[in-house]
Parts: sequence; C-alpha cells; structure tokens
Amino acid sequence: MMHRVFNFSAGPAMLPEEVMQQAQKEFMDWHNLGTSVMEISHRGKPFKAIAEESIQDVRDILNIPDNYHVLFLAGGSRSQFAMVPMNLLDNGSYKKTAYIQTGIWGQIAIAEAKRYCDVDIIADSENTRFTTIPEKKEWKTFDKQHAYLHYVDNETINGVEFPFIPESNNIPLVCDMSSNIFSRPFDINQFGLVYACAQKNLGPAGITLVIIRDDLAKRTPLDATPSMFRYSLQVENNSMLNTCPTFPWYMAGLVLKWIKKQGGLEALGKKNQKKAEKLYNYIDKTDFYTNPVDHRYRSRMNVIFTLPEKSLDEKFVAEAEKVGLYGLKGHRFLGGIRASIYNAMPEKGIDTLVDFMKTFEKENS
Ligand code: PMP
Repeated sequence: MMHRVFNFSAGPAMLPEEVMQQAQKEFMDWHNLGTSVMEISHRGKPFKAIAEESIQDVRDILNIPDNYHVLFLAGGSRSQFAMVPMNLLDNGSYKKTAYIQTGIWGQIAIAEAKRYCDVDIIADSENTRFTTIPEKKEWKTFDKQHAYLHYVDNETINGVEFPFIPESNNIPLVCDMSSNIFSRPFDINQFGLVYACAQKNLGPAGITLVIIRDDLAKRTPLDATPSMFRYSLQVENNSMLNTCPTFPWYMAGLVLKWIKKQGGLEALGKKNQKKAEKLYNYIDKTDFYTNPVDHRYRSRMNVIFTLPEKSLDEKFVAEAEKVGLYGLKGHRFLGGIRASIYNAMPEKGIDTLVDFMKTFEKENS
C-alpha cells in the first residue's frame, strides 16, 4: 500500500485522491493519444477540449451567466493584485480604489494597488491583529469615484473568513477567493471580478482562475500594462495569449469534475462546515489550545491555534508528522499551528488530528 499522510498544508495543498489516481493512470497516455497531456500543443484540438470543458464546468458549478468571462491565467493571485488596478482604473479615469483589510493578504494587495492609484482603506482590523472583521457601522464611505471595492474572502494566514458578501453600493466588487473558492455556494452576480489561485481548492500551483464581468474586461488598462496583464487581451485569446500552463489546467479540470461528483457546492459547503466545527469545538473545550479569531468570522478553511508555550510548537509539528499529520506548522509571520482543511481533506483527517491533539495535551500539560 502506498503511504499517504493527511496533508494540512495551506497551499500547495492536498488534492483529492481520486484526482491524483486518475492523473497517474493517464499520465503517459492521455485518452489513447499515446502521449502525455503535458506533451501536446495548447492550440491543438485535444487540449482545447480540456480547456473548454473546464470553463463550462466552472460555469455550471457557480451558475455563471453569459456576461462573465472565465479565464485561467498564470502568475498566481499576486499577479491579480497588480492586474486588478492596472485594468480597472480605466486608464486613469479613476484615481482611487477602496479596499477592506482583514489580514495579511489584503495588506499585500493594498501595497500593490498603491503603485497605481490612491487606496482608501474603508475597513481595517489591523488594530486587532487581524482577528475580526470591523463592524459595518465603522466602515468608511466609498462611492462611484472609486474604481472598485476589493476584499479577501478568506484570509489564509490569519484564519478570518467573511460569512457575508459586503454591500458594494453599485461599485464593482472584486474578491480574492484564493483559499475558499468552491468551498461553499455564492452568488457571482454580486461580483465584478473574482480570482483564486489554484493551489488550495482547485489544483496544483501554476494557474489562477479569474471570473470577470464583461464591462470590467472592457475597461482600458493603464498604457504601460504588459500584454499578458490585460484582461481584454486574455479574453480575446481565451487565456491562450501565450503558452498557458497546460498541466495545471488539466489537473484543475479533473478537480472540477470531482467537485461536480461530490454534489457541487451545496454538498461541499455542508461537509466543510462540519469539519471546521469539529476542530473548533475541540479547541474551545480545552485551555491548552487557543484560537484568537472572533467566533463569527472564523475561517472554515484555515484553522489557526496556539499552544500554551511557543517552545511546544516544534514538538507538536514533529510528533504530528510521526502519526501521519503533515504541514501543520503555522505561517512564518504568525507562528503557532495552522490546519488548512480545504475540500480535499476528508473528515477522517480532522478526527485523526483531534485525537492527536488530545494525546499531545495530556502528555504536555
Ligand atoms: N491571496 C490569498 C488569500 C492567498 O492565500 C495567497 C497564497 N497563499 C495569495 C493571495 C497569493 O497567491 P499566489 O502565491 O498564487 O500568488
């Protein structure tokens, strides 16, 4: 039997076992072509079929209407931090944008946007060390002079997630869903643009999903925007302006089929809720483990916690590895422990982690 651990890495993260097995099975010979999918032209019929089918699957899963484009781009979500302002400022006709800052990824997105325009931070939880979402009555106002409103739906490092979609007052809402896309249903019609790097809930690293409303794809980019960074050109070229990341795209296609087979986002949403509740319930029951996040906004995807002493972190991670629990070391900015429990993490992984946590607590308190 092959040895597989429960992998709690934040991303690149665990992929569904069935997907890995299918990729392995057809690795050398894809659909009787006598060649691997990674050895064929992105412009040939076979790869085009993969691309088109994956786009249709994204449309089906998220119920996306025709006035949105679905793109698969390279460059990760950090490229989107730049592409969003470079394109949506409409060649400088907008001078400012609005951002919500509820964690470190939001902060990095803001720093990137500031290269191109003024940024108004309309809600900020930095003074709580990013452990909450500011109350709506504290949010600053924004209006149609702002090119868009940007927020991060799930802060992967801080473990903070929006349980609601912010009211955007009819300005385009732009969302980084890198670490929680496909983890629950949402209404795409409330968004102007949604992006998500693949390496958490969609596939291996190397490709990023972008869903953009047609009117926003038509805004004029800043003059200096490179061709690869222009949404309009990527739309025109079906995300194949250059040689696209074919293998990650193919893998994402398999994951999308798997999502459909699981019963889509309703079913996955329920499973994810149950998994997260199990882990938080145990953390709340003991004084040994602490999660600092406002209970209303705890992430269902990234469960962060600390031990009574920092010096125990390393021991926890090392002993967890010995029982097949991998990738639990917290982010280097925060320390502590982080369990990332995306779609591909089975409930059994949570049960095994909780059992281990109980034993570790007994032996170290
Ligand atoms: N946004 C969020 C919420 C993330 O979790 C990450 C990666 N962990 C990024 C952006 C950056 O993604 P990439 O490394 O693909 O650029």
